[in-house]
Amino acid sequence: MLTIGVPREIQPGEQRVAATPETVAKLAATGAAVVVETGAGTAAGHPDDAYAKAGARIAADAATLYGEARLILKVREPLAREVDSFAPDSALVCFLALDRQPDLLERLRARNLTAFAMERIPRTTRAQRMDALSSMSTVAGYKAVLLGATTLGRFFPLLMTAAGTIAPARVFVLGAGVAGLQAIATARRLGAVVEAFDVRPAVREEVQSLGATFVAAELADVASVAAGGYAKAQSQDQEQRTRASIRPHVAQADVVVATANVPGRRAPVLVSADMVREMKPGSVIVDLAAEGGGNCELTRPGETTVAHGITLIGAVNLASTLPFHASQMYARNVLAFAQLLVREGSLKVDFADDILDATCVTHAGQSRLAGAAPAPAVALAATEARS
Ligand code: NAD
Repeated sequence: MLTIGVPREIQPGEQRVAATPETVAKLAATGAAVVVETGAGTAAGHPDDAYAKAGARIAADAATLYGEARLILKVREPLAREVDSFAPDSALVCFLALDRQPDLLERLRARNLTAFAMERIPRTTRAQRMDALSSMSTVAGYKAVLLGATTLGRFFPLLMTAAGTIAPARVFVLGAGVAGLQAIATARRLGAVVEAFDVRPAVREEVQSLGATFVAAELADVASVAAGGYAKAQSQDQEQRTRASIRPHVAQADVVVATANVPGRRAPVLVSADMVREMKPGSVIVDLAAEGGGNCELTRPGETTVAHGITLIGAVNLASTLPFHASQMYARNVLAFAQLLVREGSLKVDFADDILDATCVTHAGQSRLAGAAPAPAVALAATEARS
């Protein structure tokens, strides 16, 4: 009988876990045994006894877990010492972020692992329940607005008080993908006046339906959209013209939440150092694109800095700062994926399944990435999230 293992995450600052007691019970229903490393869910609000009640055995340490497990469910890419502890021929499901670690693919191949990258889940209707990138973007978009609100020395909502009327904060969201739309919704719930910009014109209606104003730019047209509905990278000249279009909106914003990304490319620079200088003192930029180079020229990934009186938050791994719900969503995504892989208590890797085919990066001692499209960047980092 297959044993599924859920280790404790050991990347610095990582608080999420790949299975919750809810999903452990459902994993066990696939006919497999489930082993959870002691303490794996503590930071996400799940003590060992909750996993035991759900039907898992608790392993006293990682070595015991890896000695038994042949399907390992994780959140973050494994460190070298983790790869060396996995049993050869076992299967691994997690975010792999191979673009940031050139050696990892070779290490996984050499260990003869069947490794699946959660960031490669195709964005199809059938795969929607497994779309972990969207789950984590939802968390990050929400948390980015909260960080902006707590850093800003102003209220978000319009208030009528005995001390007079307080004007609402102005929030400008750059990039209206999954994270950006959640940022818009969160800022609106807090009462801010919200504007949003994206190069993809198709998002205008979604932005408006959330109660925000869509900022149209000269270059936002259907030609900005690549295959799969993702944005195309702009040329330097196009980026410059985009910056000119959004410049007045950045200048009047109290909080800018920047989420613009193009898969496989450096994040577009939408806010130049000059534009930061034009902002009101005390304003805040929360740059969710920090790890991909940043949407603001002055962003430093993993750091909060102040330039010209503006606080710049180079947000990384925000999903880990909301570990309960980030884990709940990720664990459900991973469960749906594992249900494709485990049949009657055994591992069945069937590459006729387009989801397994698209996500598997190493199998039977071979890399499967030759000719594959680059995966979207994983908004995670080895550094601890700071605010
Ligand atoms: P993403 O993280 O790749 O990028 C975030 C946003 O930045 C995108 O909306 C993109 O258009 C925008 N952007 C890129 N360059 C820009 C620039 N220069 N200026 C302003 N904005 C810029 O995006 P995402 O959240 O992964 O979503 C990408 C697409 O995938 C969207 O069409 C989304 O609706 C779609 N999607 C589909 C599914 C599904 O079908 N299951 C699930 C999630 C997302």
